[in-house]
Amino acid sequence: MQHFQYYIDGAFCDGEASFPSVDPATGEPWAEMPEAREADVDRAVQAAHRALHEGPWAKMTATQRGKLLYKLADLVAANAQKLAELETRDTGKIIRETSAQIAYVADYYRYYAGIADKIEGSYLPIDKPDMEVWLRREPIGVVAMVVPWNSQLFLSAVKIGPALAAGCTLVLKASEDGPAPLLEFARLVHEAGFPAGVVNIITGFGASCGAALSTHPKVAHIAFTGGPETARRIVRNSAENLASTSLELGGKSPFIVFADADLESAANAQVAGIFAATGQSCVAGSRLLVERSIKDKFLDMLKAKAEEIRIGGPLDMTTEVGPLATSRQRDHVASLVERSIATGARLVTGGQAPAGKGFYYAPTILDCDGVASPSLAEEFFGPVLSVVSFEDEVEALRIANDTRYGLASGVFTRNLARAHRMMKGIHAGVVWVNTYRAVSPIAPFGGFGLSGHGREGGLAAALDFTRTKTVWLQTSDDPFPDPFVMR
Ligand code: NAD
Repeated sequence: MQHFQYYIDGAFCDGEASFPSVDPATGEPWAEMPEAREADVDRAVQAAHRALHEGPWAKMTATQRGKLLYKLADLVAANAQKLAELETRDTGKIIRETSAQIAYVADYYRYYAGIADKIEGSYLPIDKPDMEVWLRREPIGVVAMVVPWNSQLFLSAVKIGPALAAGCTLVLKASEDGPAPLLEFARLVHEAGFPAGVVNIITGFGASCGAALSTHPKVAHIAFTGGPETARRIVRNSAENLASTSLELGGKSPFIVFADADLESAANAQVAGIFAATGQSCVAGSRLLVERSIKDKFLDMLKAKAEEIRIGGPLDMTTEVGPLATSRQRDHVASLVERSIATGARLVTGGQAPAGKGFYYAPTILDCDGVASPSLAEEFFGPVLSVVSFEDEVEALRIANDTRYGLASGVFTRNLARAHRMMKGIHAGVVWVNTYRAVSPIAPFGGFGLSGHGREGGLAAALDFTRTKTVWLQTSDDPFPDPFVMR
């Protein structure tokens, strides 16, 4: 068994307890992880708080902070393959995807390295004589970051990059499911030379570690990615410390295909949208809305593509769909498919867990036309596509928006005017037209409704980790006037 440590106050240490991490491809434990409970959470937050107010980080210029972030970016790029292998081993996400994604994570750090010294305050043309007034942008404080198992290096980079650019310090709780890549990433933070306490990386369980972190009195902001139920707990927890929150939650994203679309391209994008990352993607295009006149043809294309997918060991470069991250997740997917079929959904392909070891589930398509299937409303976070047809744009929009989620969406059409109308009408934080699952550090990302609030990516994300301070300076030598009259 490999043994991992976490990183608090610039030092690597064992946890208050430990727990085994299970290899999703075999179902066997492969590593021992440190478990933080209240005492270590407190130690980490206290370290972050000290680093924020005392010591070298507090005195550094923004340009110096940016230089450290550039160093970190280079280290992530140089170690991308090792990090990818760890993420694949611990979460089952295929190596083809983790190696490409983590190489790109370096670009997120580069982007925020460049932003560090471009966060500006402002000068106010105040309506009073002899008074200079300006706004300073200061770091918001100690940030608690809580992430789920899928794409942890990516989901943490979109938080750590802007938070450090803004001058914050942080405690990141890696998911208890697959924390290895983030615990290894801590070694790169150390090597990059960030002062002790600026970045603390721990792991542990939600009810103990996560709750202690999100209620801690010295936490000023909670940046959370995960499911809506946990988000509600986090928001309740924030009633304790009155921390602000940003929430990146789940989705039930519509993928809309019109008859005039390039169907081959749409089918490939739909496969990427639902079967990549074994469907464990917040932006999974899990509801296919297809124009009625081409439904049968398009479903046949998708069925053929789904059945050609190579299912296999996640560390094999030729594998296209690997296991789900946990047995709990596989069981959730299987039971939601069963419930959907029981309510009338028709199984087009898949619908079972292949025999053998590991938490696998076959790429699955459910035809839900005319059925109130739970698969149309609930998030699978797995490789299951639910299909309905529509007659026209009005019906497509009605179905697309018939969800409490609002994270992502896709529209496939060759009609530019229609693409514009759909783009305006869809209630979601991201609309992809004739493409899907494209992301960039330059482009803000986030949801509406049950998909959360706040945006990650882009310049504004760095500003979200700041708070303003208004400074008033009197420039006249006149004595302070009548103390009982407001100036
Ligand atoms: P989850 O909500 O169960 O867990 C996420 C994290 O919250 C874990 O680290 C967990 O330990 C922690 N947690 C659990 N209970 C807590 C508590 N009481 N207090 C504080 N922390 C607590 O999510 P999951 O099942 O691991 O991940 C899947 C979910 O994440 C899906 O809904 C998916 O859509 C969502 N997700 C969203 C995005 C996005 O960017 N919008 C990206 C990836 C995943």
